[in-house]
Amino acid sequence: MTTMIITDFVPADIDASSWETVEPYFQQLLEREFSCVGCLEQFLLDRSELDAAVSESGSNLYIAMTCDTEDEDAKNAFLSFVEHVEPAWKKIGFELNKKVVQSPQVGDLDPQRYGVLLRDWKADIELFREENVPLQTEDTKLGQEYAELCGAMMVNFDGEERTMPQMGVYQQDQDRSVREASWRAVAERRLQDRDQLDGIFDQMVTNRHQVAKNADFEEYRGYMFAVKHRFDYSPEDCIAFHDAIDATCMPIVRKLAMERQESLGVDTLRPWDLAVDPHGHPPLKPFETADELIEKTSKLFHRMDTSLGEMFDSMQDGGFSLDLASRKGKAPGGYQASRDRQRKPFIFMNAAGLPRDLDTMVHEAGHAFHYMLCRHDDLLWHRSAPLEFAEVASMSMESLAYPFLDEFYSPEETRRAIRKHLEGIVSVLPWVATIDAFQHWIYLNPDHSRQERTTHWLALEERFGGGVDWSGLDAEHEAMWHRQLHPFEVPFYYIEYGIAQLGALQMWLQYRNDPQAAMAAYKEGLSLGASKPLPKLFETAGLKFDFSAEMVGTLMKIVEEELDHNA
Ligand SMILES: [Zn+2]
Repeated sequence: MTTMIITDFVPADIDASSWETVEPYFQQLLEREFSCVGCLEQFLLDRSELDAAVSESGSNLYIAMTCDTEDEDAKNAFLSFVEHVEPAWKKIGFELNKKVVQSPQVGDLDPQRYGVLLRDWKADIELFREENVPLQTEDTKLGQEYAELCGAMMVNFDGEERTMPQMGVYQQDQDRSVREASWRAVAERRLQDRDQLDGIFDQMVTNRHQVAKNADFEEYRGYMFAVKHRFDYSPEDCIAFHDAIDATCMPIVRKLAMERQESLGVDTLRPWDLAVDPHGHPPLKPFETADELIEKTSKLFHRMDTSLGEMFDSMQDGGFSLDLASRKGKAPGGYQASRDRQRKPFIFMNAAGLPRDLDTMVHEAGHAFHYMLCRHDDLLWHRSAPLEFAEVASMSMESLAYPFLDEFYSPEETRRAIRKHLEGIVSVLPWVATIDAFQHWIYLNPDHSRQERTTHWLALEERFGGGVDWSGLDAEHEAMWHRQLHPFEVPFYYIEYGIAQLGALQMWLQYRNDPQAAMAAYKEGLSLGASKPLPKLFETAGLKFDFSAEMVGTLMKIVEEELDHNA
């Protein structure tokens, strides 16, 4: 165990994966009386250390499970944590928050130090309604039904039963008829569950509207902005952001679609023409082995900034902080997790030598830098920033890496990689706007019919769809939002990516103008963790918290120039 432990309230070797073991400590906290503000601060430190112990146990179990999905014991241990520890932890955590917020000493806490934390806890307490507990459980169950339906989807293609993610590779095939056939197979399979998915969503909307009503809100949107602690931007700001994307990003999207259509030599762009390389290039191969990925990524970060390079190297500790190599039984995807007692980051991925793996490496390293830069804060709650800023830390690294991609690519390949990344930014913003605007409409019109919902979806597609020919594919087009899990499972969670992208693009500009100043600002902003409100985090990192047409337009103009530059 490291020296990061700041209180002896929680034993260093406690097994926090068992609720029976940790519960007495939580009870002690719940019963503790304090008579001075110093006692309250000590209470918060003890609580933070106890929460860190539980959090680290959860991380360890999750890491063990994803590192070997064939290990039944590891899987059961994690599921047991989710079932037995998490709900009880959440419940008692809420009681402890209440105890703090309602204590007579709370007014004596330094607002500079505790302001954001108390603001968030107060909001949660004000929003809590006992009668919403069963409704929220119902919502979670409906979300699981959605996940199960989607997870069970298989199609028989090319002689084998395949999952939806496996079908994705055919969209890169140079043979258009293969792309079309695989696209249609997937869409057809999804349409089989269309009624059921709409039914789940209908129930969710009714249920969620009631939750908002119970909490004295007119509609669910306002309720969710409060739940998500969006104190620093409003629904109107989001709508202005959608308009800005429409005005400044869509012209580039349409231009790129035209270019793609010409390069592919097709009459119109069909939905199966969007992922394939339009020039017939084979996929890029940035590296072979995980060791090579680590070595070259280290060089990349050292060139970007010496201290980032050193931070990256500190994670090369014999596999404790990095598990990157692809092997049998490892879960798909990549993530960054933290061990909150030792205050160490961890990066997981399945590196198979693909460009996507390199993107993931650089992105997750950004999250790890964030964690290392703010881990000095003794309050656990300050060590994970809100998503709108957390993703600035990671997405910035993707763009700042451009000048150093020569570690992995030839000059020609570097241009292709940069262009692909920029195209990704330009195409994701309209999708963010679509998914967000769709949800605004849904919850402002909770009594809508399925037909009205479809009509509104198609109107948004008209606005943000960008030059794709859907003729003869009406049902597929109408139901395409079903594949986006967010409206089902995590409502209103999506605009954060758009906001963070604006921050990341500004960071990139800043870096192009003055690398040293940009790096200093990046590190200073990240070192605040979650201790300050969003606008302050942005400002400290040298960025504006601004999603106006002017800001989006400025950034899109530079993206467009860079696209031309890398044509
Ligand atoms: Zn991320």
